[in-house]
Amino acid sequence: MSKGNSKEPENTVDGKEKGIQETLSLEQRVEIIKKSVENIIYALGDDPKREGLVKTPQRYAKAILEILWGYFADPDDVIGDAIFEQDYSGIVIVRHIKFFSMCEHHLLPFFGNCSIAYIPDGKIIGLSKLPRVVKFFAGRLQVQERLTEDIGKFIENVLKPRGVAVYVSAYHLCLAMRGVKKEGVKMDTVFFSGKFQNDDNLKNFFLKQIREDRKIEI
Ligand SMILES: [Zn+2]
Repeated sequence: MSKGNSKEPENTVDGKEKGIQETLSLEQRVEIIKKSVENIIYALGDDPKREGLVKTPQRYAKAILEILWGYFADPDDVIGDAIFEQDYSGIVIVRHIKFFSMCEHHLLPFFGNCSIAYIPDGKIIGLSKLPRVVKFFAGRLQVQERLTEDIGKFIENVLKPRGVAVYVSAYHLCLAMRGVKKEGVKMDTVFFSGKFQNDDNLKNFFLKQIREDRKIEI
């Protein structure tokens, strides 16, 4: 398509330079999302101008930018200066961290809980930071498998511990509301590294702790 053709669709990614998304202002992001949501309402056969819907594109744009805040944050800011030198050779387990994320295949929510364990090697992380790490990686378009791995690898990188274990259990609305419509189905994913990967006793210890958690409903 030739340049300067005024008939080119506005506010689409087509034809935009690679990397240009990083330079968009918040207002530009809101405008692009608003147009897209108006188009969805129109394509559904409803009237984007009727009273109940007229402010929906604006509301949706604000909501989705807030939900997917992980795109606009720096992971180093998420943990700040909350890493401490500490001699402790036991296991640290933080259980049942609730999270909400968005499935990248259907742009529908998936949500559940995440449990993390690590065996320090001289460094520990402030307790409140692990939930922040989970929420940071959940705050972008995800698949559960990658979310689990992102969390595990991030902890590995910042703490260089002797092992990391991450367990994620989640409901997917794309599974519950469409397709096979399996309302009650939960998906579980696990990441192990270092000592957790090589030691079956440790693996089983971690999984036993988590199984206890499964008695608690989300
Ligand atoms: Zn999905």
